[in-house]
Amino acid sequence: MTCKSPIGFETLLGYWLGEVPETGEASLEEHLLGCAYCSKRLERLVALGSGLRAAVKDGKVSMAVSASFVEAMKQAGLRLREYRVEPGAAVNCTISADDDAVVSRLRAPLANVKRWLRK
Ligand SMILES: [Zn+2]
Repeated sequence: MTCKSPIGFETLLGYWLGEVPETGEASLEEHLLGCAYCSKRLERLVALGSGLRAAVKDGKVSMAVSASFVEAMKQAGLRLREYRVEPGAAVNCTISADDDAVVSRLRAPLANVKRWLRK
């Protein structure tokens, strides 16, 4: 099963997220309907996303995310409890049954810090 002009990963991701402009959506859907290779790739992407979403939602993972990711979580209706921690400060955080996730924003002076890679 192959495709002569496979839909790019970013386009597939955009389609799944509903970010494909209307002008390109019809031809994209037509391609997906007629192409088992690309529709399978989309299926895998959706399955991966669902698994990831479930793992995050169930609190099985903790991770560093971007501000736009946090904004997307809010847009998706997740209830977030947010903390902002200044350098040298501490916070007693909590989570309740009404929260979907806890977001901690840690401020740190990083001027002149060089990237350090663990070997
Ligand atoms: Zn294809």
